[in-house]
Amino acid sequence: MAKNISQTIKEYFDNNPNREITQEEVVSHVFKFFPNARDPWRVTRKLYEEGYLVKVSRGVYKRIPGYQAQPVDAPFPDEVRQQIFERDNYRCVVCGNGLHNGYEIHADHIIPLSKDGKSILENGQTLCSEHNMMKKNYGTTDFLRRYSMKMLEIAREIGDNETEALFEEILKILDKHGY
Ligand SMILES: [Zn+2]
Repeated sequence: MAKNISQTIKEYFDNNPNREITQEEVVSHVFKFFPNARDPWRVTRKLYEEGYLVKVSRGVYKRIPGYQAQPVDAPFPDEVRQQIFERDNYRCVVCGNGLHNGYEIHADHIIPLSKDGKSILENGQTLCSEHNMMKKNYGTTDFLRRYSMKMLEIAREIGDNETEALFEEILKILDKHGY
């Protein structure tokens, strides 16, 4: 058998175009040919990261003939950006402003590309222009500090002791780690 695991998975998706295929199905197919395969699912995820497969949901992928997305180390492919917006209901995860009240929204990398963050759904979040700029200009940890200070102020104003304690603790952790 000249085929390797990656080729076997590709061929399986190619033979089932546009069909949503689960992790279990792919893995059991691979085990027919490679009973000792160590982690066939990792190979499938890699095909997705390379832009060959489309992610439908957690553990489910499909192959669209002719499709080639940008690899995940590039900016978000349109489809992933759309999934991020949908998951976050088209609202900034910090302030809640969004398309419903006329705010522009952006897909932000939670872990930046420069720090090896990937362009996948799990590493994306929806931000309004203001918070997107804030994060870009200040970086993640400084953004977290500013955001925490703002939340702490609000919590104190409305007397929400639990939230106040939470953000006090976050600020202490940032202090402790020198951010
Ligand atoms: Zn915002």
